[in-house]
Amino acid sequence: MEITKLILCVFLFVPLSILAQKKDAPNIIIILTDDQGYTDVGFNGSTEIPTPNIDRIAKNGVVFTNGYVSYAVCGPSRAGLMTGRYQDRFGFGRNPLLAPNDIDQGVPVEEEMISEALKNVGYNTLAIGKWHLGAHKDQRPLQQGFDEHFGFLSGGHRYFPEDWKLNDLTEIRSQNDGYITKLLHNGKRINETAYLTDALSREAVNFIKKKRKGPFFIYLAYNAPHSPLQATKKYLDRFPNIENKKRKIYAAMVSAVDDGVGNILDALDEMAISDNTIVYFLSDNGGPLHNGSNNDPLRGKKGNVYEGGIRVPFAMQWPKNIKAGQTYAKPVISLDIFATAAEYAGFTPKSKIDGVNIVPFLNAKSNETPHNYLFWRKFDQEKIGIRSDDFKLVKEDNGVLELFNVTKDISEKNPLYNKNHFNKLHNEYEIWLKEMLDPIFFGLLHNTEYSKSHPNRFLIKEE
Ligand code: CA
Repeated sequence: MEITKLILCVFLFVPLSILAQKKDAPNIIIILTDDQGYTDVGFNGSTEIPTPNIDRIAKNGVVFTNGYVSYAVCGPSRAGLMTGRYQDRFGFGRNPLLAPNDIDQGVPVEEEMISEALKNVGYNTLAIGKWHLGAHKDQRPLQQGFDEHFGFLSGGHRYFPEDWKLNDLTEIRSQNDGYITKLLHNGKRINETAYLTDALSREAVNFIKKKRKGPFFIYLAYNAPHSPLQATKKYLDRFPNIENKKRKIYAAMVSAVDDGVGNILDALDEMAISDNTIVYFLSDNGGPLHNGSNNDPLRGKKGNVYEGGIRVPFAMQWPKNIKAGQTYAKPVISLDIFATAAEYAGFTPKSKIDGVNIVPFLNAKSNETPHNYLFWRKFDQEKIGIRSDDFKLVKEDNGVLELFNVTKDISEKNPLYNKNHFNKLHNEYEIWLKEMLDPIFFGLLHNTEYSKSHPNRFLIKEE
């Protein structure tokens, strides 16, 4: 009895959160690129843009050939990734505006982000790069479970330090001014001097070395290769044979990311922590093409619910638990990252999540399908998508519901007329839709309208 009491006392002095952490909880690194085409990685067949380091993740682990994100543009896709929930569950069906006075322009603070959940179970957490989940002072990375932050709050950023002319958000006067503000480091503006992509990679490597004892979580959100197209000579010189000017700069930007990924993987090796570190690589949406990206053979681009908008380059490694050199062809989605973290870090999600732990489906331990259905909705454009097994029902710009077998017809060229599949998918969508909210804020498409109705949008007194 006395011993029991003693044990209880000891436990009472240990924070509850640490108690919940699993033994050998893995480090977790999410490497997210921005607007990278499905085909523009070596592991999906690119020879024009070699990505030997990104390919290391695939070789060490698994390539998801049917890896999806939950939305076809940046902001909502990130909101889904970070919460593990379809972002329409909390009304995040648009790309948010840069409006730091407006707490509706971001992920509602009551939503639990993966960073908050991991911090609660004792992880050291770092967000790097693009945020785009709310610039309001209560919605920034340090307020959303990140111990440290290095990057910018807006939906994009210029890459050369000489372009960063604004000191902070009090100086912004338009949506795109977020692209030219100085970088933030733990709430303070800094004078960074490196090419942006290199700076982001450097910060990830430093954190890995500093926190090598783990467990740690790094959300590394490169804005490359999102526009503006800007690259340094070092990377441009690697592509003397690409004549198309855009494609050449794009390739250089992807190559800069690849170097960064190489440095990160090397740092994990040097610290001897690769074995129990989960590393994900994926893009936040498909290539928009205008930045020189390539989604072949997928139909469509960023913004589409055709495969070209939502199926992305996606790979994962975790040497300790995932057999190397795998290709996995059943549909998975970025929402699974949250669910997988919950299982191995040992936390219980606060709300209903939509992803699943994907690890049991790998290693041939399970022949079941991770998801019976995956759903997409673009509210303003009335676009929808439903995927189940090989089939996908899509409503795109033409406003017509079309059924495809995306395994046999990856380019979605030949609509099928199978009434059973059609009705089944559509019925499931209607059921899913009942749990979703319409957007709760005006998005990027309403920039002018929003500024008119919010004349104080850029009256920002202090950061
Ligand atoms: Ca994007």
